[in-house]
Amino acid sequence: MPFQAQPQPTRREDLLAQLDHKVVYDIVIVGGGATGLGLALDAAARGFRVALIDANDFAKGTSSRSTKLVHGGVRYLAQGNIALVREALHERSTLLHNAPHIAQPLSFVMPSYAWWEKPFYGIGLKIYDALAGRSGLGQTEFLSRKETLACLPTVQPDHLRGGVKYWDGQFNDAKLALALARSAAIESALLLNYMQATCLLYADKKIAGVRCQDVLTGSMHEIQARCVVNATGVWVDALRAQDGDTQAMVAPSQGVHIVVDKKFLPGNSGLMIPKTADGRVLFAVPWLGKVILGTTDTPRDDLATEPLAFEEEIDFILKESARYLQKAPERRDVKSIWVGLRPLVKPPEKTGHNTKALSREHTVLVSDSGLVTVTGGKWTTYRAMAEDVLEKCFETELLVPKSRSCTEELKLVGAQDTTLTATSICESEGLHSYGSEQAWVQQLPGHQTWLTEGLSEAMVRFAARYEYAIHVEDVLARRSRLLFIDAKLAMHIAPTVGAILASETGIDPDVQGFLDLAAQYTLN
Ligand SMILES: Cc1cc2nc3c(=O)[nH]c(=O)nc-3n(C[C@H](O)[C@H](O)[C@H](O)COP(=O)(O)OP(=O)(O)OC[C@H]3O[C@@H](n4cnc5c(N)ncnc54)[C@H](O)[C@@H]3O)c2cc1C
Repeated sequence: MPFQAQPQPTRREDLLAQLDHKVVYDIVIVGGGATGLGLALDAAARGFRVALIDANDFAKGTSSRSTKLVHGGVRYLAQGNIALVREALHERSTLLHNAPHIAQPLSFVMPSYAWWEKPFYGIGLKIYDALAGRSGLGQTEFLSRKETLACLPTVQPDHLRGGVKYWDGQFNDAKLALALARSAAIESALLLNYMQATCLLYADKKIAGVRCQDVLTGSMHEIQARCVVNATGVWVDALRAQDGDTQAMVAPSQGVHIVVDKKFLPGNSGLMIPKTADGRVLFAVPWLGKVILGTTDTPRDDLATEPLAFEEEIDFILKESARYLQKAPERRDVKSIWVGLRPLVKPPEKTGHNTKALSREHTVLVSDSGLVTVTGGKWTTYRAMAEDVLEKCFETELLVPKSRSCTEELKLVGAQDTTLTATSICESEGLHSYGSEQAWVQQLPGHQTWLTEGLSEAMVRFAARYEYAIHVEDVLARRSRLLFIDAKLAMHIAPTVGAILASETGIDPDVQGFLDLAAQYTLN
């Protein structure tokens, strides 16, 4: 394994000291999810002076709660949204190339039980291949019944006629967020988690920065900037209202995922159900040694940071899965359950509650005072969104263009030499998840002390020293994904993780807060 440049330390005291240097940033970004972090990297890599703050941990919002697909969106193809699919397919291939340790191709199989399903969906997927062009990951194949069962050994065999196999990507969303944050820091961006934007600063009625509060200590700070970008996902309307626009832009929609043991879907192919009882798509995706089942699409008006699943959503996922799997998972089989809010952009005239029909594309708005708001879109297209935001900043003369975007070719932190075969994301987490940084993890104390399979003491130390981790939740939900794949196991090791973190940072790691939260991720 080649020895990569030493990871950049993320000691909070040093980051806070940097924040208090009285410099004027070119851009300050509020929100450290996929959208904000992707923008931070693109802007910093072009040579802009960038600061980014998040009120919580990076990717604590929607960006750690996706279905983990790097995809063009087969469903959007069915809706005829060719431009969106084509752009996403291009971005899919870029991401897989730039972060092969955390984003990889995955085959999906759509089993067919009616005579028309194979040709109908197969032709659609051939169009999907054609749209991908040279960015394609593999050809769509028509499978016999036997081949379908070989790919999906536990699929319901009664009346099975065959299937269609196609290729898309899967990724580790929160790990990708961290890789973006750390890559932006290498390009000299300043990033701080647990730093909440409390109000906007103005000079001559134009935006001039943000005032923010350290969520850990309560201390207040000001960041001066030529351009302020509101990338707060489903929460964008709060900052927009402060800027004088009270018309809501986002119609949030909730998506629930359930995680079960790998035995329910062994193998390394995902299962795609093209049409559930309510006419949507449902996936069973092998991920980190378990299987993710989801998701739902339920309109939701409240904007909790930790939304809870509705009982009907849980029942729906279990019932739909039962139609396609030989052995149906039951409530007692659920290892973790998590919920994310989609920031769907609401056209002013649409006030109905059918979020399925709302656009999955992103929107960039610039207010009279110069507040730039970006929301919508999907994880897969974060890089294209960043380019669009910067274009808008140039058009509106908030920023003077510098060099062109270089992120299409920019390898993210931890990206391995592409001649090496990365371990599949279907496999359990482990040292391999660190890509080219494995040797640095192994240099830290406790590299032979395993807290559970795939998580060593050294990994917790690495999270504290180089990955901005402060709380137990930061480690067990997003640096490791244990909370998302086995909530009870995560609770079991939380006190040990807390002790290691405290010894590294001297900050209260909030073990009890994590235990309370993790209880919400369990069903039994
Ligand atoms: C159920 C579900 C499944 C999905 N599956 C996929 C998928 O498989 N593939 C795909 O490509 N996309 C998927 N998506 C879409 C994708 O996850 C989102 O588009 C993306 O994560 C949105 O990122 P964001 O940065 O805009 O928002 P967020 O990740 O929510 O980030 C916003 C951030 O702003 C912060 N914030 C809010 N207010 C403040 C403040 N005042 N000060 C500072 N910070 C603040 C929050 O803490 C948060 O971290 C899915 C979405 C959902 C809900």
